[in-house]
Amino acid sequence: MTERNDTTPFGGLSIDFGGDTSVAAPASSAPIGSVPIAFGQDAATATGGPATAVASGGSTETKLLIVGSGPAGLTAAIYAARANLEPIVLAGSAPGGQLMLTSDVENYPGFPDGIQGPDLMTAFRSQAERFGTRIVDVDVDRVDLSERPFRLWARGVEYRAQAVVVATGASAMWLGLESETRLRGRGVSACATCDGFFFRDREIAVVGGGDTAFEEATYLTRFAKKIHLLHRRDEFRASRIMVERARANPKIEIHTNTGIDEVLGDAKVEGLALRDTATGEARTMPIEGLFIAIGHKPNTEAFRDWLEVDAKGYLVVNDETHSKIDGVFIAGDVHDHRYRQAVTAAGDGCKAAIDAERWLEAQGLTEANTLTAW
Ligand code: NDP
Repeated sequence: MTERNDTTPFGGLSIDFGGDTSVAAPASSAPIGSVPIAFGQDAATATGGPATAVASGGSTETKLLIVGSGPAGLTAAIYAARANLEPIVLAGSAPGGQLMLTSDVENYPGFPDGIQGPDLMTAFRSQAERFGTRIVDVDVDRVDLSERPFRLWARGVEYRAQAVVVATGASAMWLGLESETRLRGRGVSACATCDGFFFRDREIAVVGGGDTAFEEATYLTRFAKKIHLLHRRDEFRASRIMVERARANPKIEIHTNTGIDEVLGDAKVEGLALRDTATGEARTMPIEGLFIAIGHKPNTEAFRDWLEVDAKGYLVVNDETHSKIDGVFIAGDVHDHRYRQAVTAAGDGCKAAIDAERWLEAQGLTEANTLTAW
């Protein structure tokens, strides 16, 4: 099963990013304008790429810097690398995005038997590296987009770039229970679209009182035999029509004033320890799946002061992938709160790379590879 979310872009098996995370790639042709640099022993890991990088306190320059290493960021990298932009990806300290916390992915085209989320992201990463992408597993600490080259800092290193793709994803919000974390991917999920299929004819619960919770509960009626919608208050944020639709559905039972103390079960979800938030009364509920639908948070911290955010905190795109700053492009869940799928994020990454390449070409900073490069 799958699941979504947390520090970068999906949900919680404990999985290490596969592949070689040691410093790779002999220094050969450094990115244009770059200062050749070498990782310190304790510096972030980097893989792939024609150049090495960056001791703490050093700097490097590239035509295209991609921030984020989920499907959007790594697809942007594949396209940009094949267009000879020699991109650097700042992958985050938990690289790979939400799919790293996902088990079976059955809706990513091209894998008729499904694929494990981490395996898919390892393949994305290898493919990006194959064409010369350099990937550095660091979080961006600070950003200055006031002039070009844009400057971004990560672990004491300054990265200068003529163009930037922001693909930092979004993180599902979690209840914060130890049992919830332990059982992620074992019955606890934050993505009904991804995992609903695994709960055919099961009795499950959805937690939340907003549109997402009601939408997911209604969607899950396609699979589950019974869905308990649990909300901590007796008023909903969800729109009335969504609430009414759920109330009219015989498979959905709504429980208000209901908090979750613990998810029960060792190897898989077996039930919930609940508490009445009005009376304090405790009870248990036997269920086999728990969908967390209490909201997502776009990972915009480093960019919020520079780029436009909408009322929900997501980055605003103009004309597909453009931000309000020329040369800064946006891809994936960091702007998309509507679809939030790996395949849509990948498509977005492709678009952002093409737009970035065309933009760099218009600035005279790169040659036209586009028409032949993909
Ligand atoms: P919301 O912020 O609207 O709702 C989150 C819900 O989760 C709230 O009911 C909140 O409870 C509850 N919650 C938050 N934290 C906890 C917690 N720790 N424990 C228990 N419950 C918690 O998020 P949504 O994802 O539902 O929606 C986000 C936005 O996307 C909204 O604007 C929504 O309208 C929109 N959307 C629209 C859809 C559509 O139109 N089809 C579909 C999905 C989303 P409380 O109310 O007590 O704070």
